[in-house]
Amino acid sequence: FDEVMIVHGALGMRDRSAACIMTPIADVFSLSADAVLDEYTMERIHLKGYSRIPVHAPDNRRRIVGLLLVTNLVRYNPKSCKRVRDFTLDPARAVHSSTNCLSILKMFRQGVYHMVLVSDSRRNPHQAIGILTREDAVEELIGEEILDE
Ligand code: ADP
Repeated sequence: FDEVMIVHGALGMRDRSAACIMTPIADVFSLSADAVLDEYTMERIHLKGYSRIPVHAPDNRRRIVGLLLVTNLVRYNPKSCKRVRDFTLDPARAVHSSTNCLSILKMFRQGVYHMVLVSDSRRNPHQAIGILTREDAVEELIGEEILDE
């Protein structure tokens, strides 16, 4: 990548917030904790192709209770019709929507997280308005879309 572009992207990171680079909750592919992992749902998961799926409370699409890792489903047989909540979910960490992109990039560099929730409520951080992955933060830094591997 062109160094000038990277420096330009880096300088702007402090002025932009999580809300600018998140994937809005309406566009997030999530599953209810109650959802049955039958053949139909498994096919939807594979067609989407995401590696992490936010899991929401049955009565509220915005209340994210954990993250389902698709790698945990590789040996799963859809005929057993388990529910999402029968799997061990990864805890979902939340950041406030005003957090700047530089802090977010640092957090992804330090932590083991790949995906965080974005919330505009400090009292209720698991009420998500969006999600963010490491890739969203890195794309912001280098100023262009990463062609997916
Ligand atoms: P993956 O490894 O699943 O492809 P990435 O971390 O590479 O995910 O993210 C690629 C883009 O897809 C990012 O913009 C991210 O916000 C978005 N994304 C990741 N998971 C989901 C999901 N479950 N629903 C909607 N968008 C998602």
